[in-house]
Amino acid sequence: MKVPLLDLKPQYLSIKKDIDEAVQRVIDSQYFIMGPDVAKLEEEICQYLGCKKAVGVSSGTDALLLALMAIDIQPGDEVIVPTYSFFATAGVVARLNATPVFTDVDPVTLNLNPADLEKKITKKTKAIIPVHLYGQSAEMDSIMMIAKRHNLIVIEDGAQAIGVQYKDGKFVGTIGDIGCFSFFPSKNLGGFGDGGIVTTNNETLGEKMRIMRVHGMEPKYYHKLIGGNFRLDALQAAVLRVKLPHLDSWSAKRRENAATYTKYFVEAGLAEEEGRINFDSKNKVLLPKPIYKFVNNQSSITGNQSQATNAPKNYHIYNQFIIRVEKRNSLLDFLRRKEIGCDIYYPVPFHRQECFDYLKCNDADYPVSNNASENSLALPIYPELTNEQIKFVVDSISEFMISD
Ligand SMILES: *Cc1c(COP(=O)(O)O)cnc(C)c1O
Repeated sequence: MKVPLLDLKPQYLSIKKDIDEAVQRVIDSQYFIMGPDVAKLEEEICQYLGCKKAVGVSSGTDALLLALMAIDIQPGDEVIVPTYSFFATAGVVARLNATPVFTDVDPVTLNLNPADLEKKITKKTKAIIPVHLYGQSAEMDSIMMIAKRHNLIVIEDGAQAIGVQYKDGKFVGTIGDIGCFSFFPSKNLGGFGDGGIVTTNNETLGEKMRIMRVHGMEPKYYHKLIGGNFRLDALQAAVLRVKLPHLDSWSAKRRENAATYTKYFVEAGLAEEEGRINFDSKNKVLLPKPIYKFVNNQSSITGNQSQATNAPKNYHIYNQFIIRVEKRNSLLDFLRRKEIGCDIYYPVPFHRQECFDYLKCNDADYPVSNNASENSLALPIYPELTNEQIKFVVDSISEFMISD
């Protein structure tokens, strides 16, 4: 049985008529750059997320870059980012000749570890970029508290997490000063090419980003600021507007698929429960936690279960379904030979990347990230995946574990 890591075709086919119409409408108008679809998408994203301002941009990377430019990050400034993320999170900092400073990550969520954050703050620190990795919120209360204490700006990298709610029901990307999202085709809300959006509740920053998106130009050919070409295409906006109303149901399907994986892994005797962080004879596969209760979460302290059950918050939307196994590389080869798509996110944390050698990081400061880069494996999780396919993936992993 062939199981691709991601197959975008069934999703397209399920909404083909609407997509084709929307695309044709843009073609008929011959209006390709920005325009009414971009403006409407921005409004609809604001409504969906509950934020004041959204500015459609050319990619998730440009969203992060624009955010840093809008808060005037200067050469020599320090911006704190988790060492375990997609490259863009740190790359944009270095591109502005500012210094990315890395923290280790939490062993359960693999998101920026607030306990490590405060240690990394210096007089030069200007901002923090927490990442909601794989579709699960970072611990925003602690991060916001620390940011406030040190007067730092928080830019959320929600590229993998559009539609994720933090524990009080706020959507990620609306908690910090600026939220950044990507519409890369493999994200939960994916366009037909590159795209992204920045979100904010700060009108001044929102307006600044709107102007900087088009070379800081306002009015035409008069430049108040130095921006760039960070525009979103009309075609992308038209496609994304068709997809946005389906986003929650697709994310729910991903969550169902994750629950199915857990069921089969538990039945196969490879795992006891989700969210374990240590291997033993009964937990050869470590599974992601679907609802993560933060240590300082009031409802988990008071044991208010009903609240958690009735309105699950902090829920994972699985842009990637990441398991952790000890012999990751041989399992990867084994699964690929069986035509099961899987991949490694991310094999090399930032502090080990050649381009960041000049930062002279101490490898021993990042044990959790180092470990995750060595044992994490992404399995297929896309919404249209069938139970039979999930069963086949788990059976194959079981076969590997037994023969091992
Ligand atoms: C995908 C991604 C980005 C960059 O988005 P692009 O649209 O590909 O530029 C940034 N951060 C994270 C965590 C991502 O996963």
